[in-house]
Amino acid sequence: MKSCLFCKIANKQISSRLEYEDEKIFAFDDINPKAPVHILLVPKVHINSLNEIKEKDKDLLGHLIYQAKILAQKKDIADKGYRIIINCGKYAGQEVDHLHVHLLGGKPL
Ligand code: 5GP
Ligand code: ZN
Repeated sequence: MKSCLFCKIANKQISSRLEYEDEKIFAFDDINPKAPVHILLVPKVHINSLNEIKEKDKDLLGHLIYQAKILAQKKDIADKGYRIIINCGKYAGQEVDHLHVHLLGGKPL
């Protein structure tokens, strides 16, 4: 989706602080961090939200969560604990309509 903010970040038309990248996903620091570590992990393909996930996307979702865990270890927040959040839709407060996983940690939440 050409106009989507997170598509633009994932293909580097808009700059961000990169935390991890491979052929399928992109991870970067949240611009308005709610904790010392606040990373967003997004698929490179545009998917609006968890509601649009198809069975064929199960591996992609697993990959996002797995890399969130790897990043938690890299950032040294894994032992003390961290939170993974996926907001879906208006009532959850999803602001950006491109599926993303929040990784939050580094303080008691
Ligand atoms: P949501 O509420 O949709 O689950 O989360 C969207 C997140 O994206 C928010 O935590 C917000 O701070 C972050 N965000 C919004 N715009 C930008 C941006 O331009 N750059 C970065 N790095 N994060 C953003
Ligand atoms: Zn997008």
